[in-house]
Amino acid sequence: MAEDAATRVSAGIERAATISARAQYLVALTGAGMSVESGIPPFRGPGGLWTKYGEPPMNGYQRFLADPAQAWRERLSPQGPMRELWETLHAAQPNPGHHALARLESAGILRCLITQNVDNLHRLAGSQAIAEIHGNYMLVRCIECSRRFAGDEIPLEALPPRCPHCQGILKNDSVFFGEPIPTDVLGRCFDAAEQCDCMIVAGTSATVYPAAQFPFDVRQRGGDVIEINPYATELTPIASVSVHGPAAVVLPELAMRIIQLRGM
Ligand code: NAD
Ligand code: ZN
Repeated sequence: MAEDAATRVSAGIERAATISARAQYLVALTGAGMSVESGIPPFRGPGGLWTKYGEPPMNGYQRFLADPAQAWRERLSPQGPMRELWETLHAAQPNPGHHALARLESAGILRCLITQNVDNLHRLAGSQAIAEIHGNYMLVRCIECSRRFAGDEIPLEALPPRCPHCQGILKNDSVFFGEPIPTDVLGRCFDAAEQCDCMIVAGTSATVYPAAQFPFDVRQRGGDVIEINPYATELTPIASVSVHGPAAVVLPELAMRIIQLRGM
């Protein structure tokens, strides 16, 4: 990083820490950029899975419902985007940015973490107060009763697999295009966003709704938005502070400084 840019980032972190440290109800919202340093490319852009294989169908959920067994066969196929995605996700480890958010939670400062990522890395880092708004790739969910189960504990001899509780069809917990966000998770996100007076937004382009709406709502109610992203986004104009650096570098420094300022 050039010296000027580095100075700007440090000054941004200091301002962001001062604002975050006085928050009563700090919430974080994370997206694909959070896991770039863990080796998971975003879906779009160079190196992205969708660039390589084409965008998944916008009616993915309707196609799943029309033929769940076929959707499961495609998912389990040894070739294709799902297998490549699975292997990439499986090999990934949390980066210092994930660990920093987990530390802020265990210090009692971060109250809720809303993530758009399905990669399970926040959980691996130790975060517990998480709302995975687009699901978690390690889990399957019953489309009838919404119960979730560990994906690797579900027998796959007969497809589609069935819910051990109600016999409903099981689907990967990751939310497909055209699929409603599960109401339990959405409720937790809305609760957190409503109470939030400061939201740290890391690694999201803030274009996928409803998650993209939360920081705008916080701002409209007079709260602060702290943005962490190497590039400007649609959020930048409304952010109290935008720190233009990678999440894996900025979040650890920010978390350390917030904890210092809170005298912990
Ligand atoms: P996005 O691809 O729309 O935006 C990613 C953002 O991250 C961009 O604004 C980019 O500038 C920023 N970014 C890039 N490198 C960064 C870094 N090192 N540190 C911080 N920011 C960085 O992602 P989105 O907003 O999360 O929306 C895409 C959708 O795709 C989401 O719904 C998400 O569920 C899904 N997705 C998930 C994963 C994952 O689970 N890791 C990966 C790709 C996509
Ligand atoms: Zn069920």
